[in-house]
Amino acid sequence: MHNYVYENEDLINAELKCVICHQPIDNPVSTTCNHTFCKNCITEWYRNHQSCPICRQHISSSDLSPVTLHLVLNQLNRLSVKCTKCNQGNIQRDNYEYHRLQTCQFQCECEEIIRQRDMSDHEKICRKQFIKCTAAELGCIWTARREELYEHTLTCVLVNSSTGPCAISENRGSISGGSSLQKTGSIDIERNSSAADVVF
Ligand SMILES: [Zn+2]
Ligand SMILES: [Zn+2]
Ligand SMILES: [Zn+2]
Ligand SMILES: [Zn+2]
Ligand SMILES: [Zn+2]
Repeated sequence: MHNYVYENEDLINAELKCVICHQPIDNPVSTTCNHTFCKNCITEWYRNHQSCPICRQHISSSDLSPVTLHLVLNQLNRLSVKCTKCNQGNIQRDNYEYHRLQTCQFQCECEEIIRQRDMSDHEKICRKQFIKCTAAELGCIWTARREELYEHTLTCVLVNSSTGPCAISENRGSISGGSSLQKTGSIDIERNSSAADVVF
């Protein structure tokens, strides 16, 4: 998936579009019957059909070859795109990768200014990112923004029923913070009971 849209898409010559995805052709490959498609599209198509999507002529994978004709490649590369991350327009398609890596930055929903190339790292910590419950593998279907996770874990039955190593060591940590002998007495009780009892 690209983070751009074509500008004036309706005005783009239909011959430059792929009949499979209806977008201007990306990474063009041609068949021996002289029809051209995006490499990804025709590869995907070829898994289920061994015929050309346009003329139905039989094709084999060795019949697919990358388009090297500059006339076609140039027309495709010069198409104008608009970045859907920073909204900058008028970017030549073959310059988009440069834009993505070097110049694209935008305000994340968390209000931090992020470079697009750092976005996948940022998503791992962003408080506005949608994430699953930490007990998703146990069957919790909760999904919400990271900043709401803490509150959810307080009430999630599945989080509190988990007795994984993390839950145990966290509980030990909180108990050792306390100093009274009464608490020491309660450790054994808590260790033998479920994590839910410890948290509340
Ligand atoms: Zn396509
Ligand atoms: Zn064909
Ligand atoms: Zn951008
Ligand atoms: Zn963010
Ligand atoms: Zn949950």
